[in-house]
Amino acid sequence: MKTVKKIIASEKKNLGPKQFVMSPLPNQWVGQISPFIMLDHFGPQHIPAGEPFFVPPHPHRGFVPVTILFDGEVEHKDSVGNIGRIKGGDVQWMTAGSGVVHSEGAPESFSKTGGVLHLIQLWINLPAAHKMTAPSYQEIKSDSIPVLKEGRSQVRVIAGKYKDLQGPAKTFSPLSLLHISIPEGEEVTIEVEKGFNASYYLTKGETIIDDYEVPAQHLVWLSDEGTNITVKAIRDSELLFMAGEPINEPLVSYGPFVMNSKTEIIQAIHDYENGLMGTL
Ligand code: MN
Repeated sequence: MKTVKKIIASEKKNLGPKQFVMSPLPNQWVGQISPFIMLDHFGPQHIPAGEPFFVPPHPHRGFVPVTILFDGEVEHKDSVGNIGRIKGGDVQWMTAGSGVVHSEGAPESFSKTGGVLHLIQLWINLPAAHKMTAPSYQEIKSDSIPVLKEGRSQVRVIAGKYKDLQGPAKTFSPLSLLHISIPEGEEVTIEVEKGFNASYYLTKGETIIDDYEVPAQHLVWLSDEGTNITVKAIRDSELLFMAGEPINEPLVSYGPFVMNSKTEIIQAIHDYENGLMGTL
């Protein structure tokens, strides 16, 4: 059995005067749980009618920004020419690779009526060998995500393998990403591949793991030892389970760029400023 290595409370990160995310990773104690480098949890928040929710064009290089949408609608446009729109239950899996400029936010129709927005943005690192891969965009619709029912609980396999199911996300290092729902009083046992870093973030509810009571908006980092973990829900709970082979390479990040050295960061800034990541 795996045990708890650390329980990390989210910190509030302001996006603007009215909007914020809860963020457990990175924080002052944990720089990364490789290959997972950042987790931002937005909402659930009611966006009033007429209030835009939009992140203007910005670049990324060297990693994979993933948006897991639980509620609402999000639109994506990028310099490669991709346009996508996802709804609650869908996932946007973008490999920034050598560089891309994109905008993201609620579509106009959503802003007109307003509504509840609830999502996680997760940054997954790329191994050095793949940091300069061509950018790609994968829109994963809810009905293409395999679901395993375990009693009244369910496990949605977004990436990697879980039991006999294979998630649709295209990955560049071995990892798995699961969206798990556990009703009050139920429990789920998850098997983790040997050598993988494993953690889970609770978006809703309260769970017991290794005798610790863990409330929502907390990240649980699991021990390296052991292969199984049982999560019990004290209340109806939703969690994002992340496991992956650690990328044991230097990590240097600066804003929207995640590379292996300072020189590569300076190059990324230079390339972006010279329009090599495209424009929108
Ligand atoms: Mn972005």
